[in-house]
Amino acid sequence: MDSLDAFARAKLARLEQGALRRYLAETERGATTARRDGAPLISFSCNDYLGLSHHPEVKAAAAEALARHGVGSGASRLVTGNHPLFRVLEEKLAALKDAEDACVFGSGYLANLGIVPALAGPNDLILADALSHACLLAGAKLSGAKVMVFRHNDLDQVAEFLAAHRARHPRCLILTDGVFSMDGDLAPLVELGTLAGQWDAWLMADDAHGIGVIGGGRGSTFATGAKADVPLQMGTLSKAIGSYGGYLCASRSVAELVRNRARTFVYSTGLPPASAAAAIAALDIIARDPRFCAEPVRKARLFTDRVGLPAPQSPIVPVVMGAPERALAASAALARDGFLVTAIRPPTVPQGTARLRVAFSAAHADADVLRLADRVADIVAADCPAPATRSAAAE
Ligand SMILES: *Cc1c(COP(=O)(O)O)cnc(C)c1O
Repeated sequence: MDSLDAFARAKLARLEQGALRRYLAETERGATTARRDGAPLISFSCNDYLGLSHHPEVKAAAAEALARHGVGSGASRLVTGNHPLFRVLEEKLAALKDAEDACVFGSGYLANLGIVPALAGPNDLILADALSHACLLAGAKLSGAKVMVFRHNDLDQVAEFLAAHRARHPRCLILTDGVFSMDGDLAPLVELGTLAGQWDAWLMADDAHGIGVIGGGRGSTFATGAKADVPLQMGTLSKAIGSYGGYLCASRSVAELVRNRARTFVYSTGLPPASAAAAIAALDIIARDPRFCAEPVRKARLFTDRVGLPAPQSPIVPVVMGAPERALAASAALARDGFLVTAIRPPTVPQGTARLRVAFSAAHADADVLRLADRVADIVAADCPAPATRSAAAE
């Protein structure tokens, strides 16, 4: 056992040296507030973009389901875990996303680990955006397919890879985030859909940060108003939906195949009924109020206008600081002012791009958004000369 502990200690020491060691901070969380070590903070680090995790209707739905159906679902959905609430939830997801069917998983991470290997295998080709979420890339790796990573949002390189490699593989998947989780920009889903169609490739977009906040709440597939050609719309119920769980919206036959072959669906316990009930209530709120769904991006725009950053495409605004030490110092300074803005460091983001990731919620007060903007502008200005700051932050 000595070698095991020595291994762990050496790894941790190396992380510490690079300012890359992470610590869990106990956080009591409200819709936009967080209490750490007794100190109240306004949080700009949650993905609860609509504050629905604390919405009275959503909480009441969860409480009722909990009282009536108990805490856990008891088994895989294919055994006895398929509570009737799942059918309601899947119908609502499919309707919001204009898909024939939907399949709900235990989490977004589990969804990606299950879906990709169910659709692609060792002889197949997967093209993935370089900034795709870790679990999309993990699913690609697990599939055993040939994985080629294209430069972020680079349509020319996707076309180049398809021309050079597509013909040698029976099937091809193109993987991308719809909204990139650490940069907040959108994927060109309309153009990717067209390219995929030309080469008989299957486009899968991870819309974890799009559902509820982009395209009137319907997600990044609807960012332009019309629906982009994305046959595989994956996402999570744990961000704007405020609950927990993952999903795939697709055709009836694809959803049915995934229920049969995705190992993280087949061999993992179904979501607790209360989580499904909460997600159903949240989806009802989203479907009836597209203006509310636009609020997080409006708040983000208030912030970027005030700081002098490019207009946001989503509720996520990166303020790139470079070295991890600088991002940590900026985060600590903001905490002293009562704001929780977590520093994001490699390997979550590429080397040299440690940043503050500012996430906006419909539940934030405009005045707090503007106060934060002024503090961030001060920190950025103090940190390096003004002109360089602007371009670094805009990267
Ligand atoms: C958070 C996230 C996931 C994982 O979803 P969970 O439900 O939290 O497991 C997947 N993809 C992206 C892009 C995410 O941001």
